Amino acid sequence: MGIKIDALKCTACMACEMACGYHRDDGFAFLSSCIVPYRAREKTDYFGVLLKEEENLIVARPEGLEVNKIGEAQEEDSEKEADASAKPMLLREGCDLCEEMEDHGPMCIEFCPMNAITLEEE
Ligand code: SF4
Ligand code: SF4
Repeated sequence: MGIKIDALKCTACMACEMACGYHRDDGFAFLSSCIVPYRAREKTDYFGVLLKEEENLIVARPEGLEVNKIGEAQEEDSEKEADASAKPMLLREGCDLCEEMEDHGPMCIEFCPMNAITLEEE
């Protein structure tokens, strides 16, 4: 089971980032969130989402999903837009699907107003 992100629906509202930070720290601590939206500087209305899992860094872009094994792929694609934001992500805890939230499902899914995040059964 894991999180699936449809970047075409994302508006970079940051609700998922705030919700995940709250799950981590009981406060709106952006630096502890393992899900982060980003905007491309040179393109308008282009949004993507980064997700840190235990072993992978997921980069969801409008044109598709990219799964990078942590420790292998990050250095190779230095030209890619997400890389500058991706590096700090590697220091964060991986997504635990909000396993300790008793009365709520994954927080990012609950708070995404665009239904861009769903739970994927494997
Ligand atoms: S499921 Fe929970 S831990 Fe994982 S990205 Fe969403 S809010 Fe963060
Ligand atoms: S909450 Fe949904 S729409 Fe907002 S930034 Fe996250 S994925 Fe995008």
